Amino acid sequence: MAEQDIFDISVVGAGPAGLIAGAACAQSGLRTVIIGPPSNRDDRRTSALFGGSIELLKRLDILERLGGLSEPITGIRIVDGSASLLRAPEVLFEAREAGFEAFGYNIPNAALTEALEGASGRLLTRVPSGVTEVKIGSRDVTLTSDSGEKLASRLVVAADGRSSATRAAAGIEVSNWTYPQSAIVAMFHHQRDHHGISTELHRSAGPLTVVPGPGKTSNLVWIDTHEEVARLLALDDQAFCGELSTALKGLLGALSDFTPRQSFRLSGQTARSLAKSRVVLVGEAAHVIPPIGAQGLNLSCRDAAALADIAGEAKRSGVDIGGEATLKRYENARQADVGSRVFAVDLLNRSLLSNIPGVSIARGFGLFALASSPALRARVMREGVMPTTSHHQPSTSPLAQDVDI
Ligand SMILES: Cc1cc2nc3c(=O)[nH]c(=O)nc-3n(C[C@H](O)[C@H](O)[C@H](O)COP(=O)(O)OP(=O)(O)OC[C@H]3O[C@@H](n4cnc5c(N)ncnc54)[C@H](O)[C@@H]3O)c2cc1C
Repeated sequence: MAEQDIFDISVVGAGPAGLIAGAACAQSGLRTVIIGPPSNRDDRRTSALFGGSIELLKRLDILERLGGLSEPITGIRIVDGSASLLRAPEVLFEAREAGFEAFGYNIPNAALTEALEGASGRLLTRVPSGVTEVKIGSRDVTLTSDSGEKLASRLVVAADGRSSATRAAAGIEVSNWTYPQSAIVAMFHHQRDHHGISTELHRSAGPLTVVPGPGKTSNLVWIDTHEEVARLLALDDQAFCGELSTALKGLLGALSDFTPRQSFRLSGQTARSLAKSRVVLVGEAAHVIPPIGAQGLNLSCRDAAALADIAGEAKRSGVDIGGEATLKRYENARQADVGSRVFAVDLLNRSLLSNIPGVSIARGFGLFALASSPALRARVMREGVMPTTSHHQPSTSPLAQDVDI
């Protein structure tokens, strides 16, 4: 293939992580192509995206495109609903307590990918096909699409999800595990104002979270055992509404107008390496975590931002974009952040599931300490603003840069 036909970056997969990574790389001055079928418009999940991710979406002109579909999250309430011997009081993290206007925004996944597809058209090349072959050479990688098209690039970004074939082609192995839980998502209307507060009810089968949406709507992520989720999915709207009202103990008043429910089985996965053989991993190709504390896509946004910086800098300084030095910089920039989030979410989930009294008592003491100490809460929020493991330095944004609570 002629030199001028070789892209700097090809992104395999046009889900949220691939679209964000592709747009960020293009904005960093890299000649970029995204290859993948249009993303699932029937994804009824929303993503709570925090400060650092929102800053990136603003830079990519995505936030304005979402119009009134996103909702600011100004507070996070944690309620201990476990059967622990030590029941902790509820903890409320308020963005203004740490000097921010909001922690971030709650954004519907379908609207997010649609806005990203609309915006990326101007910036980069888009090939709406699947990749059937990945051929890694010493100077570039050639991808073959299912329409027979061949595309070459210096670096390939594997954003093709948890079963990534691109990751496998690079010889990167994964560790994976499952949880005895599934999550139900749905959107609903309610009588009382949510005041911008996301509420996490920590129950012994997993957290039940209601995230604020526009007006008097909220988005539900209800984690429970597979058996209980199957039972809840089989209920009609009225019966399901009754179950949720009981679980929320009247928090949002009368509930109505539920969208059809979707469910997801919970699992975890980490890749042994985040970069190898001219391939880097982003999104769920790199890390899969349960939807607790809204970390998955936020991690992916930080993957995208780090990659765009590192590969953009390599291009400007004439270094091989897919070479060993660039891959190593990406691996070093992302390893600690990814590892620590996977560990923290897994630990929190297992502490809820655990029947060992010491474990639930320790979690209860943690919530007690947070509830009674504004200084400790502020410290936790500041750690969110300046995550010690993140690649990026905080900006002077009125949004928290990241939240890990
Ligand atoms: C219930 C639930 C709630 C969540 N809530 C939040 C939240 O509030 N905040 C948050 O940050 N995260 C959240 N997450 C996590 C977040 O949804 C995921 O991290 C995110 O959707 C993963 O996106 P992705 O692009 O990596 O993967 P995917 O969405 O799986 O995209 C992969 C893409 O690759 C494509 N593909 C696959 N194979 C090929 C191929 N051979 N060629 C080309 N394309 C290919 C697929 O078609 C797909 O479009 C939640 C997850 C769940 C389950």
